[in-house]
Amino acid sequence: MQVHKYDVVIVGAGGAGMRAAIESGQRARTAVLTKLYPTRSHTGAAQGGMCAALANVEEDNWEWHTFDTVKGGDYIVDQDAAEVMAKEAIDAVLDLEKMGLPFNRTPEGKIDQRRFGGHTRDHGKAPVRRACYAADRTGHMILQTLYQNCVKHNVEFYNEFYVLDMLMVEEDATREDGTPYKQKRVAGVVSLELATGEIHIFQAKSVVFATGGAGKVFKTTSNAHTLTGDGMAIAYRHGIPLEDMEFIQFHPTGLAGLGILLSEAARGEGGILRNADGERFMERYAPTIKDLAPRDIVARSMANEVREGRGAGPNKDYVLLDLTHLEPEHIDAKLPDITEFARTYLGVEPYTEPVPVFPTCHYVMGGIPTDIEANVLQDNETTIPGLYAAGEVACVSVHGANRLGTNSLLDINVFGRRAGIYAAEYAKDADFVELPDNGEAFLENQIESLRSAEGTEKVGALRAELQEVMDADMQVFRSEDTIRRAIDKIDNLRERYKNVAVQDKGKRYNLDLLEGLELGYLLDIAEAMSVAALHRPESRGGHFREDFPDRDDDKWMVHSMLYRDETAETEGVKGIRFDTKDVTMTRYEPMERKY
Ligand SMILES: Cc1cc2nc3c(=O)[nH]c(=O)nc-3n(C[C@H](O)[C@H](O)[C@H](O)COP(=O)(O)OP(=O)(O)OC[C@H]3O[C@@H](n4cnc5c(N)ncnc54)[C@H](O)[C@@H]3O)c2cc1C
Repeated sequence: MQVHKYDVVIVGAGGAGMRAAIESGQRARTAVLTKLYPTRSHTGAAQGGMCAALANVEEDNWEWHTFDTVKGGDYIVDQDAAEVMAKEAIDAVLDLEKMGLPFNRTPEGKIDQRRFGGHTRDHGKAPVRRACYAADRTGHMILQTLYQNCVKHNVEFYNEFYVLDMLMVEEDATREDGTPYKQKRVAGVVSLELATGEIHIFQAKSVVFATGGAGKVFKTTSNAHTLTGDGMAIAYRHGIPLEDMEFIQFHPTGLAGLGILLSEAARGEGGILRNADGERFMERYAPTIKDLAPRDIVARSMANEVREGRGAGPNKDYVLLDLTHLEPEHIDAKLPDITEFARTYLGVEPYTEPVPVFPTCHYVMGGIPTDIEANVLQDNETTIPGLYAAGEVACVSVHGANRLGTNSLLDINVFGRRAGIYAAEYAKDADFVELPDNGEAFLENQIESLRSAEGTEKVGALRAELQEVMDADMQVFRSEDTIRRAIDKIDNLRERYKNVAVQDKGKRYNLDLLEGLELGYLLDIAEAMSVAALHRPESRGGHFREDFPDRDDDKWMVHSMLYRDETAETEGVKGIRFDTKDVTMTRYEPMERKY
């Protein structure tokens, strides 16, 4: 086992991790640990754009952007965080431009902007052009640009190093009111090097988690195979709460039956959703901005069309995305990749035929709670010195109950940058926390028991069953019955997980073993999502309860906070404690959410 020592360790080399590394690398000795080669991170799959109120093509300002973000998130957004994001958006885009990102341009040479769902002019009057983009490969361009700049600043990467545990200690401390409590401190992380199977401990003054989302909890998802919620689960296992896990975004336009994403840019550029009768049904659900309503509303409307028998296709189980009225040259210039996906995976020609689509799991609004300096919370009052999180793994919370399209590429740049700065500043004055004895023991035991197990259960089979039940019972529509069914199934899978065996008993490149560990994370995250969903008897944003179809601001205008706690029980589920946290409001009172 090797021990490395850095001022700052960043876990994850997606957009958030690398944006943090650019800042931290210029201020402190920084290492980035990543299970994927950096440019394979999911940020590279992002298509449609990154928004900022540049007002390059239409009147716009950061205050309208803040309002849209708060309303889009169904008012459970922390408004101070949304203000920071909307204000810093403009520099975030200009920074990327200066780093060399090839944005699409207007004829005058300015960064071009296009429409996206929920982004409006003057508090909802009409769609506004706010999304900056590079064709439909914006994320690819961001990831490449950030990587090149990390290389320029000599950031040290440890590629294909899986972080599988965090080293934490607890110290006695006293609150301002005199009550004693246990203050958590981070000492470093424990990782497994894929190529050798060796364990490495990284001691650090600051640790930044930037491990991305957890979409692989679902079967139908736009997310990459590797998005298994590792960072969230590792934090959760160390007693750090997870915030707002019931809020999961289903993107309206996944390719039917596959879940592969067709960016909302398709509708931003003029695409229209139709049911089997050819009707533009969004006119009924969101009369003002129609197909460009926020994703939760569009996804639910589509699912409703199918339920009420107006779905298209032989099984009437999808709706149609119609681009046939757009000029082929326009499609080729603005939407080249996604139209190619329709041809390749469904054999449909978007110039002349509408494309079958259905909602696909896309984004986790919840995650590791942080403040606006990206500092991780250990409870509602206390942060953990030296521990930071940014990007999809974190919940700051700028997305509330529903994220607006193009706000995530923005989030990772704004809060990734902040995490890098604050982590490096903290490391300047802090001392290393002493490493606990046998810090590697927990991971070693986990690996040994998986590798030596003679069990009869298989990782792939359990994962498939988990994904099936989440698709069936935790998707766009939920109720107490469906959620309880999901929780029971997850409970059963957890028991069977104890009897799981991996086929590959070797040390080097043992992906079989790693998928076994990732399944453990998926089970934890799926349980947290379901228990949080059961706990919220109202409908808000991406969380729609058929048994409680209305929003209940009197009781539920709060964040949910779930803690792993062996002594607790919540809604009949042992080992989880439920709490709530106030939403930070600055200037917007909750209104009815009409579009
Ligand atoms: C198909 C698709 C299209 C999208 N389009 C858009 C869009 O147009 N606009 C928009 O705003 N948003 C979009 N999104 C959402 C957005 O791309 C993501 O939310 C965002 O890129 C997440 O960035 P991240 O840095 O947090 O995580 P990621 O880019 O997912 O990076 C996670 C990193 O963590 C590392 N990691 C994970 N676990 C471990 C571990 N255990 N040990 C070590 N390293 C680990 C990985 O190696 C990776 O480097 C899209 C998402 C998808 C899936």
